[in-house]
Amino acid sequence: MAKFPISSEGTTVAAVIGDPVRHSLSPTIYNAAFKHDQVNWSYFAVNIATEDVGDLLEEMRQQHVGGISVTMPHKATVAKLVDGMTRQAEKLGAVNCVSKNGGTLVGHNTDGEGLLRALEAETEEAVEGKSYLIIGAGGAAKAVALALAEAGASEVIVTSRNVSKSEGAAALAGHVGRVGSITESDRADVIINATPIGMQGTGNEGDTPLPIDSIHRRQIIVDLIYHPLETELLKNARSIGARTINGIGMLVHQAALQYTLWTQKDAPLEIMQSAVIQKISE
Ligand code: NAP
Repeated sequence: MAKFPISSEGTTVAAVIGDPVRHSLSPTIYNAAFKHDQVNWSYFAVNIATEDVGDLLEEMRQQHVGGISVTMPHKATVAKLVDGMTRQAEKLGAVNCVSKNGGTLVGHNTDGEGLLRALEAETEEAVEGKSYLIIGAGGAAKAVALALAEAGASEVIVTSRNVSKSEGAAALAGHVGRVGSITESDRADVIINATPIGMQGTGNEGDTPLPIDSIHRRQIIVDLIYHPLETELLKNARSIGARTINGIGMLVHQAALQYTLWTQKDAPLEIMQSAVIQKISE
């Protein structure tokens, strides 16, 4: 049975696949971009079980499907099923974007580069030469650790509640990576929350992964969470005069990279960003 929605003649289909995927903001972001650029593409959210992912990729090989975004829990499954991968996706063992090269499927991971672009755009400073403390050691933390190290970070410290996962994430940062502790927050130029602590709908919206007295006003505090737009962590950081960055920039930049991989066009970043902020603010 077809896994992709039927679309009108001549329309190229793209989709985010996941389980659950109902609340994904991706259709809002990409459809705003397609409409703005007047390209005949349509983007859907497709809820799919792990055992059906192989059939869906087969369908992508054969039909008018231009691209797939991949979210939880399928990133590792897709990495095993595509025909080839970028170096980053290979190192992470996780694919968040599939593009087509003729009949072959190429897996990418745009999360790390998405964060780098967001950091550079929002701080107007180089990523290179700074020390970073990452809180959390899941998929996002790993992508970020790898990207920061490759961009020339002087130090990438990973802390999480699971030491072996922290070791795995820190290892991706090579010789500048190590496992550390929140008590070392002092030495970081940039602190990045890569846990869901403070996220809407988790029951811990008012919580923060880092107490306010562990933050200094000279630091840049990044929360990968984008809903709410300002988490408790960012609220605290702003109140003491630290610079703050929420997860919207990474979300939009990683999506923009996918858009370009599929359409070969520059993405309309501002259109994508205002569409997603409007949706979150509804
Ligand atoms: P993940 O793979 O599930 O990893 C989550 C990490 O947070 C793990 O280290 C987990 O520890 C830890 N964690 C979860 N709940 C915790 C708690 N209550 N206390 C302490 N640690 C906790 O998730 P992910 O994909 O990396 O996503 C992490 C965050 O980044 C989410 O908020 C997500 O929305 C956000 N994100 C944003 C973007 C963006 O574009 N802005 C992209 C990707 C992710 P265990 O492994 O021990 O459970």
